[in-house]
Amino acid sequence: MKIAVVGTGYVGLVTGTCFAEVGIDVTCIDVNVKKIEDLKQGILPIYEPGLEEMVLRNVDKGRLGFSTDLASAIKGCDAAFIAVGTPPGEDGSADLKYVLGVAREIGQHMDDYLVVVTKSTVPVGTAKKVKQAVAEELEKRGSELSFDVASNPEFLKEGAAIDDFLKPDRIVVGVESEQAEEVMRKLYKPFLMNGHPIIFMDVPSAEMTKYAANSMLATKISFMNDIANLCEIMGADVNMVRRGIGSDSRIGNKFIYPGIGYGGSCFPKDVKALIKTAEENGYSMQILKSVESVNENQKEVLFNKVMKQFEGNLTGKTFALWGLSFKPKTDDMREAPSLVIIEKLLAEGANVVAYDPVAIKEAQHMIGENDRVAYAKDEYEALIDADALLVVTEWPEFRSPNFQVMGKLLKNKVIIDGRNIYEAKELQEMGFAYYGIGVQEVL
Ligand code: NAD
Repeated sequence: MKIAVVGTGYVGLVTGTCFAEVGIDVTCIDVNVKKIEDLKQGILPIYEPGLEEMVLRNVDKGRLGFSTDLASAIKGCDAAFIAVGTPPGEDGSADLKYVLGVAREIGQHMDDYLVVVTKSTVPVGTAKKVKQAVAEELEKRGSELSFDVASNPEFLKEGAAIDDFLKPDRIVVGVESEQAEEVMRKLYKPFLMNGHPIIFMDVPSAEMTKYAANSMLATKISFMNDIANLCEIMGADVNMVRRGIGSDSRIGNKFIYPGIGYGGSCFPKDVKALIKTAEENGYSMQILKSVESVNENQKEVLFNKVMKQFEGNLTGKTFALWGLSFKPKTDDMREAPSLVIIEKLLAEGANVVAYDPVAIKEAQHMIGENDRVAYAKDEYEALIDADALLVVTEWPEFRSPNFQVMGKLLKNKVIIDGRNIYEAKELQEMGFAYYGIGVQEVL
């Protein structure tokens, strides 16, 4: 089988590479010429564990190629996956200009029956617009080619994207014809071994499934953050509460960790977009509105603890930040809570020395040149003469550091832990002041 994946970002590159891995002939397409030129030379635009090796192997086998030329790449394909960005527009709704632009290009150049698949996260009703865009272009050409539109939302997690794609919890596909279902089933067959299910449904339900999934996950996070904040006030320990509730099989112990708010390219924009979709259709998503506002407040919690420790005076102080990416094992800095924290520290006249195992380049790009932001070569260098350590991202290598060495490098033995990766009691015994999220501080 032969497919084109249009949009070679976090989702498109992983999708294309994993389809190539199971033997499908894949061309990944992008408008970003540098990205494609780099990929042709084996240079990846993103960090994702295991991806580089898999890309190189499949390119080598001739199953995976990269191109800026959709017109040629689309010829003879069984399906074209649209995996371009759907960023939030000014009003929070998903901006569909890239998706519909690609749909039009596909209509202009397809040469046989094709399944046009939306893999990007798109609001209910988008497939209809995609269909119309492709049909209009075919009509302009006077072409009578037939095609189907399918919705195949992606559930991969950055940092574990390859495993998620190769061994998915489920594959959701919205289709409107048997022919499209057959093509999609054939493409995904290699991933269904060992009981991974493919769930076919109508197109609007598939489109909605993605938003419902991300909104539910964001809700879990905001719910736990709300509980954590109350724990602090009431003298409870959210780590205990989490274990206590997570052992109830109806609740489960996954995704109930409090922290400094969700970020990344998906949860914030998808929650916003679903609120907007509802509003446009005369409905108010009350829970999601609260989820969003709890999250906005939560991004400031770490900063507020810094202010408390230093009695509101941060001028000239230096803070070591461990972690910049919005979560471990990715270099994705989109909507990362670290950006909010850095901005607030700088506004108070503080300096920042940050370390992240892979996201420094991306962070530099987003933060820009700033005399008061420096980047360390490792986590210990970041601590030298810092007034406190702020743990922002729970990278595995930060979990068991050498506290003795840390105590010597830091000017003050203060740890403000936005991810609850340390034990308050243990740190207290070593003479640190410790703040966690939803736990009692030790000073
Ligand atoms: P991304 O920004 O990393 O990649 C998008 C790519 O599309 C870019 O390389 C861009 O140059 C390219 N592009 C834009 N217009 C184009 C055009 N006309 N033709 C060809 N290429 C074009 O985005 P992403 O994180 O991969 O997300 C893509 C979609 O998948 C979004 O809708 C997102 O919500 C969804 N999604 C993302 C994730 C994730 O973890 N990142 C997970 C599930 C779903």
